[in-house]
Amino acid sequence: MDFDVVIGLETHVQMATNTKCFCSCKVEFGAEPNTNVCPVCLALPGSLPVLNEKALEYAIKASLALNCKVHELSVFARKHYFYPDLPKGYQISQYDKPLATDGYVDINVDGKKERVRIHRLHVEEDAGKTIHEGKYSYVDLNRAGTPLMEIVTEPDITSAVGARLYLEKLRNIMRYIGVSDADMEKGQLRCDVNISLKPKGSDKLGTKVEIKNLNSFRFVQKAIEYEIERQAKILKKGGEIVQETRLFDPSSGKTYTMRTKEEAHDYRYFPDPDLIPVRLSVKQIEEIRKSLPELPDEKAERYVKEFKLTEYDADVLVADKERAKFFEEAVKVYNKNPKAVANWIINELLGRLNEASISIEESPVRPEHIAELVKLIDEGTISTKIAKEVFDEVFKTQKSPSQIVEEKGLKQVSDEGEIRKIVEEVLKNHPAEVEKYKAGNQKLMGFFVGQVMKATKGKANPKLVNKILNELLNG
Ligand code: ADP
Ligand code: MG
Ligand code: ZN
Repeated sequence: MDFDVVIGLETHVQMATNTKCFCSCKVEFGAEPNTNVCPVCLALPGSLPVLNEKALEYAIKASLALNCKVHELSVFARKHYFYPDLPKGYQISQYDKPLATDGYVDINVDGKKERVRIHRLHVEEDAGKTIHEGKYSYVDLNRAGTPLMEIVTEPDITSAVGARLYLEKLRNIMRYIGVSDADMEKGQLRCDVNISLKPKGSDKLGTKVEIKNLNSFRFVQKAIEYEIERQAKILKKGGEIVQETRLFDPSSGKTYTMRTKEEAHDYRYFPDPDLIPVRLSVKQIEEIRKSLPELPDEKAERYVKEFKLTEYDADVLVADKERAKFFEEAVKVYNKNPKAVANWIINELLGRLNEASISIEESPVRPEHIAELVKLIDEGTISTKIAKEVFDEVFKTQKSPSQIVEEKGLKQVSDEGEIRKIVEEVLKNHPAEVEKYKAGNQKLMGFFVGQVMKATKGKANPKLVNKILNELLNG
């Protein structure tokens, strides 16, 4: 039996506010435990929460960037459960009146556009952290009260790769609009995966399993791949999937049961009486919409139109805000050949940076270097082959391409007389090959070009070399 894979993601994004969601404690990664706390986030009796306006603004921004409808009325609710790192005994969240609903994110899976609908986006506070060490557990409440957005998709994702692409796009959008660094390693983007299988083509959803707390893109993909295998095996044998929550173990690459449906919580949600409902005017929402920067999809579309890039190249460039900025800066310096600028960034620079584990912001090769390199090629000062040598040297020394060309004497030789002399020399030194060529072995043309290039250390203008060889051999 063949199956369709059905996936829905619930993602928590930590907002990059200076202070917490309902108090003025600092939000700080890696601070001394229990130093960023106050009566509100410690849940001392009598303390009252006040909504952080910045957190609300960021969440509205994110909602709009995800094409959601932002509601004029939303309500904070208490979600009750008991855990040592949740001092109030409940989490402030949103329940039946979330901030935003009905959005979408488009992803590109193997060149095919897939739309992932966003079911809802709501604001909530984070819990603290419990650290287990030997026979002791330690509670750190620095994170308690940190503002989060929970973003829930419809079950529209159809593969492990799709889930990863969606998450990467989500991270990308959050960074574009500046509401979160969305760094999975720092826990700023955390994801629960819901997954089920159904017979191919059927429109009835199968029983889903939820995999909780995945904290890297790779693990998301791996956990889903494993889970697809596991569920398919059970279903093929005629078995049934148990609705449950599972965890992923990176060391074995497997998922295992955390709790079954019977153990599920009743959160006893009700509106938080300490917080007034959030009321927004259409004008407020539209003001925030106007403040949104150009988003990745719009940018990619513009690159295709304005710079005549392929859709693929445009997608690669906009997949990272800093990468797009780099490209645009290079094109600003030299605007005659954006396609070549894009190629140098995508085909040479990105690989090099990746190898060296350097981010594009710290790249030793700067946008103006790429611009100059392309210009030198376009003007015939250097060949593409030499340009690669120059690129390597820029990467190593950060000198400008023209300086390197000057210092190393790499200028292309385009003096016809000079090249003709070298070609004549090469032909004179290889009489046997010349004879074979004239007897019909056309392939030897490549050999002659190679010899001329060798004699000029790659600096001869290839067009001229070909032209003169043709004259002398075929003329
Ligand atoms: P729950 O009440 O268990 O949290 P929800 O209906 O709120 O379930 O959905 C949670 C997430 O699971 C959403 O992202 C949704 O798209 C996804 N989901 C729902 N049903 C399925 C299913 N049968 N298979 C895969 N994902 C699903
Ligand atoms: Mg759920
Ligand atoms: Zn506090």
